[in-house]
Amino acid sequence: MQNLPKVKVFVEGRYRKLTRDLPQTVYFCPECKGHPRRRKKCERCEGFGKLSRDSVQELVAWVLGKAFGTRKNKFHGSGREDVDVRMLGRGRPFVLEFLNPKEKDVDLAALEAEVNRRNEGRLEIEGLCWSQQSRVRELKETPHAKEYAVRIRSVGPLDIEACMERANSRIQVEQQTPNRVAHRRADKIRERWIEILEVSPFEDFENEYSVRLRTEHGTYVKEVVTGEEGRSIPSLSALFGVACECVELDVMDILGSEGDELSAPKRTIPFGQLDA
Ligand SMILES: [Zn+2]
Repeated sequence: MQNLPKVKVFVEGRYRKLTRDLPQTVYFCPECKGHPRRRKKCERCEGFGKLSRDSVQELVAWVLGKAFGTRKNKFHGSGREDVDVRMLGRGRPFVLEFLNPKEKDVDLAALEAEVNRRNEGRLEIEGLCWSQQSRVRELKETPHAKEYAVRIRSVGPLDIEACMERANSRIQVEQQTPNRVAHRRADKIRERWIEILEVSPFEDFENEYSVRLRTEHGTYVKEVVTGEEGRSIPSLSALFGVACECVELDVMDILGSEGDELSAPKRTIPFGQLDA
């Protein structure tokens, strides 16, 4: 049988995830992997094939895929946040790839507006433009520092002035692979930098604080807060002198590798020059 050539289109944009219940990509059931036949008898997902109703990928791809006339897509994020972490600020860059579109003459601005209209309060996308294969690797391989807003809870009150003495200087952290990811990541010690930008009390919540943090790519932020019994040294708990835990986490910005501000890729590739 002759293999038909595969045609792909790439679109690129940024997303903001405004909820704590949305995975970035399709969350297939680990038991049946969403297989159309096997999932019917699967007890883990009760035949649904997935463990979440939707994802950033699906909310965007359902709208765009309908316009392109294909459901086959791949979502490439510039890194990812945990399901329960919001992605705010200017959003996270992504490329969405569609296979064998039947229609290619689509209005990206109208589709962007449609995605945002349907997902108000959950997901926003912006800057949707034509992209190309080479951007996928760029997105995947470029290391990004990140800025976070971390809501922490401490066992006792923090001396904010003392905490701020460590602010705005780069602190080297030795971080052993956290227990929660040890089953899928090599157990080793990584050296990463963090910068404390601001510490302020959370109004009306005793011993809760908002910490603005900038961290090198690949830093495990939840463990930077607790220290995880000496697996992250120093931790915010150690630096502040009071045991702290992470209550909520928001990514506020995706930065360059040295913590510099990224300039938005503002390129519009004419339709005729799309990768095939
Ligand atoms: Zn299943």
